[in-house]
Amino acid sequence: MQTKDQAKATYPDLFEKCFKYTDAKVVKEAGVYPYFRPIQSAPGNEVIVDGKKCIMVGSNNYLGLVNHPKVKEAAAEAVRKFGSGCTGSRFLNGTLDLHLELEDRLAKFMKKDAALVFSTGFQTNLGTISTLVGKSDAVIIDRQDHACIVDGARLSYGKVYKFAHNDMNDYERVINHIRENGNSRGGLLVVVDGVFSMEGDIIDLPRLVEISERYGVRVMVDDAHAVGVLGETGAGTAEHFGLTDKVDLTMGTFSKSFASLGGFVVGDKDVMEYVQHKARALIFSASIPPANAASVLAALDIIESEPERREQLWKNARRIQKDFRELGFDIGNTATPVVPIVVGADMDAFVFWKALFDNGIFTNPVISPAVPPGQAMIRTSYTATHTDEQLDRVVEVVARVGREKGLID
Ligand code: PMP
Repeated sequence: MQTKDQAKATYPDLFEKCFKYTDAKVVKEAGVYPYFRPIQSAPGNEVIVDGKKCIMVGSNNYLGLVNHPKVKEAAAEAVRKFGSGCTGSRFLNGTLDLHLELEDRLAKFMKKDAALVFSTGFQTNLGTISTLVGKSDAVIIDRQDHACIVDGARLSYGKVYKFAHNDMNDYERVINHIRENGNSRGGLLVVVDGVFSMEGDIIDLPRLVEISERYGVRVMVDDAHAVGVLGETGAGTAEHFGLTDKVDLTMGTFSKSFASLGGFVVGDKDVMEYVQHKARALIFSASIPPANAASVLAALDIIESEPERREQLWKNARRIQKDFRELGFDIGNTATPVVPIVVGADMDAFVFWKALFDNGIFTNPVISPAVPPGQAMIRTSYTATHTDEQLDRVVEVVARVGREKGLID
């Protein structure tokens, strides 16, 4: 029989990597650690952090609905009527009539057959992709796709292929590679972000759809940052390009424009029914609480009845894109309210972030693996309800700090 001491001498301890992990400590010791910051107020356009007021340009509250009285009241009313949680999954005891109403409304809003609500957007991708892509199938993803698309693809039994970011020639090359080498004799699924969460650029959907159709590849778009933002009615990337019928599946989250928590996917009725009965991330996880479902329904009412919010969001986004570009910042290919400032080295991004924070601007530094190594950025994002004065202040501070740190002249 082996003793504890023998085991210790022979095999590495599982926790060794944790004891040796110093990345966070180094940044903390440099006094520029930006993550897990507690916000001490409602997460609106101005927040209190460390007892200090900051302008928030680091949220995904695109339509400014997190503090909307109707959304908050709907949540409170749902708690009074249904209680605080569902204590079970959608599959068993966790489906309320509210969930069904929400699915019905979402399907109509997205102009698709049917919708399925999951507990988070992350789980929506995990559940949907892993369920649909079987052993002989393959899934093709953009190199900059969100982590939960990557993980959903990994969790599937199919092979996973990547193409260069938003590069449709490379996408076609990958399909040919798969088919010519006989790497997959099954079906193919391509999954892309509609709006890339860190870069803010929009997928070249017209070409993606055209190529996919030619090769028989099913198309799934992650519209976490596009629902409520893009399209004539806010239905996202497919609507923006007039391609609603050409996209097989669109997923979204409630954690951004919808000002709540949860996720959903829309598509063909039979496909939704299959996913509903097979997706482990749905079946084995508790459903979203009544307050979340009700607040999303209230947010949807506002999204449908107040298009001026979306217009104001775009006005704010365009103004910031223009100002930052004119100042000489590298903001990549953004075409949306997500406006990154590319910095380069991780530590430089942390230092830039800290200077912005010390000047009352809340942003998010983003490093690898969320962006390619060496392309660390400050991700800023804008909201329909940001005032001109708040945006003036953001531009003034970003310009001053950018000059101090040598990012612009
Ligand atoms: N997809 C994308 C593109 C995202 O940015 C996010 C969240 N950051 C998700 C999916 C996951 O959504 P959720 O927050 O609802 O888990």
